[in-house]
Amino acid sequence: IKVTQGTPEVTQGTPEVTPEIVAACQELVLDNDKLQTYMTTFLDNIERGLKKETHDDAVVKCIPTYVQDLPNGTETGKFLALDLGGSNFRVLIITLDGKECDMQSKVYSISHEVMQGPGEELFDFIATCLAEYAVEQGVADATLPLGFTFSFPLIQKGLTVGVLERWTKGFSCEGVIGNDVVQMLKAAIDRRGDVKIDVCAVLNDTTGTLMSCAWKNNDTRIGLIVGTGTNGCYVEKQANVELFDEPDRGSGNVIVNLEWGAFGDDGGLDFCRVQYDRDVDARSINPGKQLHEKMISGMYMGEMVRLAAERFTKEGYMFGGKGSEQLFTPDAFETRFVSDIEADAPGTYNNVKQICNDLGLADATEQDYVNLRYLCACISRRAAHLVSAGLTVLIRKVGEKKVAVGIDGTVYKNHPNFHNLMMEKIKELIEPEYEFSLMLSEDGSGRGAALVAAVAARVAAQG
Ligand code: BGC
Ligand code: MG
Repeated sequence: IKVTQGTPEVTQGTPEVTPEIVAACQELVLDNDKLQTYMTTFLDNIERGLKKETHDDAVVKCIPTYVQDLPNGTETGKFLALDLGGSNFRVLIITLDGKECDMQSKVYSISHEVMQGPGEELFDFIATCLAEYAVEQGVADATLPLGFTFSFPLIQKGLTVGVLERWTKGFSCEGVIGNDVVQMLKAAIDRRGDVKIDVCAVLNDTTGTLMSCAWKNNDTRIGLIVGTGTNGCYVEKQANVELFDEPDRGSGNVIVNLEWGAFGDDGGLDFCRVQYDRDVDARSINPGKQLHEKMISGMYMGEMVRLAAERFTKEGYMFGGKGSEQLFTPDAFETRFVSDIEADAPGTYNNVKQICNDLGLADATEQDYVNLRYLCACISRRAAHLVSAGLTVLIRKVGEKKVAVGIDGTVYKNHPNFHNLMMEKIKELIEPEYEFSLMLSEDGSGRGAALVAAVAARVAAQG
């Protein structure tokens, strides 16, 4: 394996990144030796999650999803889908007809109060949105099959049974952990009494993304999200999934939801975490949890850049040693700024200038712009390299010569280099006999929910 320099190239133009900043950012570089350590540890974590004997203590839970069959393109029907997992909640109506898929949807934003309030109120909110939309679309009495994409760690006990293990991504509603979220949804719908639904599946967004991509490309074996949170799932041989006792229905496989956000929660990533990681974690609502996710996903990426910029300002290397109130305010630097700043063409500063102005840094110099952009690049690149190393492990684990990966999430979609950084790094890490592709799987959470419900119906009908 060739060892390449991990830091973003310091452009030869003027001004160059301040050397002291470049030196201090070396800690954010994951060279291929470190990535090898990561890969060995990650594979070991997956094995521990899959095996009965070690599962209880494993931090990467490897949850069997009960999805044993992939779509074959003949799925048909009209479905409702709910998509809960980020800052927005969506209700969808999806019509599948062979290779056609029609989707109508409505987005509802979830307030901070609902995200951290009582669980019953969260489900009442979901049921209200569902009822309103079903009435609006004239399907309130149709008893449509419903797929519920619930993008948090759910211990599944069936395709329609999912017990919440922990909240992630800023949610912390009381009274949900340890309960079946499908029962909570049904109870909320019953409390209203104005819509009839038939919950056919509860699934993770990674599963939805894999299914949605598999519907178009039958080499798909992996689903990945790099958005507010991060996670992956893959098609595993049923025999290797010791916790899954269902009969083999023919495929011999089952999709495993890794819940890789929790990788590192036992110290397994301490060899590559830095002070920004520890600070982000310490101030989060779930300290000590989801440590891998906190190094990668959109909920934390902007804050990590802000912490670095704050540090270098206080050390006198940026923003005249002065900064601004916003620069020193937690979460004031949004993750979309990272994508926008890195989208500026080399030698141009339109986005970075605008963002600095908005952050009260109107006196920023070209040198500051270059430095800030460098911090963004170091942190987004580290995230892309971690995800790439994780995917390399999964592609090998799937073991087929040709594998497509379905990917969704705001970071992957919006960051100008994320896809290319991943392509480059995976090619470097993986043996040449593997042929892989990374496919954007837009709207996997929605379409995927319908596909899981549809495939279940198809397989049941076949008997
Ligand atoms: C959750 C996963 C989810 C991922 C991406 C994580 O915080 O634990 O279940 O797939 O975010 O949405
Ligand atoms: Mg989503």
